[in-house]
Amino acid sequence: MDHRSQSRLNGLCGYVVDRVTHLRGDADWLAARLADPSSRVVPVWRSRNLIRQGADLSAVLLDRETAAELISTTETLVLLGEDEGVAYFAVGLPGREDELHGRLSNLGEFRDLRDTAALLPAREGALLAHARAMVFWHQTHRHCGSCGSPTRSAEAGHSRICLNEACKRSCYPRTDPAVIVAVSRGERILLGRKPEWPPGRFSTVAGFVEPGETLEEAVAREVKEETGIVCSEVIYHSSQPWPFPSSIMLGFHAFAASEAITVDTTELDDARWFTREEMVAGLLSGSFLLPRSLSISFRLIEDWFDIGRAEGMPTLRELGAGRTW
Ligand SMILES: [Zn+2]
Repeated sequence: MDHRSQSRLNGLCGYVVDRVTHLRGDADWLAARLADPSSRVVPVWRSRNLIRQGADLSAVLLDRETAAELISTTETLVLLGEDEGVAYFAVGLPGREDELHGRLSNLGEFRDLRDTAALLPAREGALLAHARAMVFWHQTHRHCGSCGSPTRSAEAGHSRICLNEACKRSCYPRTDPAVIVAVSRGERILLGRKPEWPPGRFSTVAGFVEPGETLEEAVAREVKEETGIVCSEVIYHSSQPWPFPSSIMLGFHAFAASEAITVDTTELDDARWFTREEMVAGLLSGSFLLPRSLSISFRLIEDWFDIGRAEGMPTLRELGAGRTW
């Protein structure tokens, strides 16, 4: 499978709106789309998305009439893009719980996408992830990074410009690259756990890319720092937007050239080698948990698991892994 197809299987992506970059500066087009009854608005409050609980979960997408007051009062309005003739916008609500917030809450509940995305249609999970990331960026870049003056939104919410005439610095939505890696050696995979996780939960090693290093160097450095393991080979797998709050996860497989683990206890509570048989036994007994299936970490582990899965051995999903932790 090629990398693009692999990435589409990860959660929070795979739904590609036409981002209509060339129309972001067209004020007339934007005004017409905002006035269009077919347009839809994705509200975001305190980095949470509005979710309706019916027989299944679904995203609450506001029509223009319902969103009119929100659009006219918000400081954060972003054109997300167009799909099948429908324009989608994200709108940030003020942090306080006011009357407007209360009225919207009647339509659903503002919930964390991490807890709900796996239960939403993939298309909606991707749309809400996009909206959440954009609103977070606006709400945390109200001042210029150079001179400290206030900034204003521009290009339909895709840049901010410093209001200081002597500065006028533009800044753009940021996404912070983080590498995440399934390291294997023979028939075993290296997994670690953070102290704040539920007992028995293990996942792949991950960390932010630092300035001045390649992605492959970041993979090798993070694995060495956190577990003491030396990587011999690093192979790209897929990527996943991870708006918690503003990352993109770059997934890799790596092969270990060493075996003895030295856990960095400032980062991890534990790190171990696991065989597939040990994972199956742990999942069956409930003593071993994996990340949610929404995450690229689960997919990296699942792909490694499937490559060497013995005939008759259940899949991770058949064992219920990744549903909760
Ligand atoms: Zn400035």
